[in-house]
Amino acid sequence: MQELEERILKDGIVKPGNVLKVDAFLNHQCDVELFDHMGAAWAEHFRDAGINKILTIEASGIGIACVAARHFGNIPVVFAKKAQSINLDGDQYVSTVFSFTKQREFPVIVSRKYLSAEDRVLILDDFLANGKALQGLIDICDHAGATVAGIGIAIEKGFQGGGDALREAGYDLDSLAIVDAMDPVDGSISFRK
Ligand code: 5GP
Repeated sequence: MQELEERILKDGIVKPGNVLKVDAFLNHQCDVELFDHMGAAWAEHFRDAGINKILTIEASGIGIACVAARHFGNIPVVFAKKAQSINLDGDQYVSTVFSFTKQREFPVIVSRKYLSAEDRVLILDDFLANGKALQGLIDICDHAGATVAGIGIAIEKGFQGGGDALREAGYDLDSLAIVDAMDPVDGSISFRK
């Protein structure tokens, strides 16, 4: 998606440790018009996938997913919670994710009330690096017997391999921008074409 690639080049900051900061439009300040165009792109890609629910993970996925849901006929958005919460009633699907940015494990939790074997799920997230966060969400869909009908990602870091492994495993993965290389010294970013 050219608009997203241009925005990454304009406002993205390459940090050491293979981290791309996009707080200006995706992870802190949100450009809702850009989110809207991202949602339209996923709706076009997944138009025949029969999706009836979007699953994402807190926090940055929520805004993206809610705007995208407007393009899928206002289907529900469920976000996985990252820690046990007193607000959850104990009847939950749980998986464990290793966080790339925080370098530690944390549980991801979805209430059984909001995911079932009838669901055809589109998993959405802001970033895909090694694929651990997505694997946690896929696990939760598997526990629920739900079908993972597609995966939409805003920014995939192609050089970290998580996306290619998911494609090889047969998932329909639509990443709107795939970063092939980035350099924290000169700030350069290049995309897979
Ligand atoms: P993975 O689990 O695929 O290794 O990493 C994906 C998760 O880590 C995303 O949900 C995102 O929160 C975070 N993440 C991974 N790489 C980056 C990055 O370069 N920049 C930012 N802002 N978040 C990242």
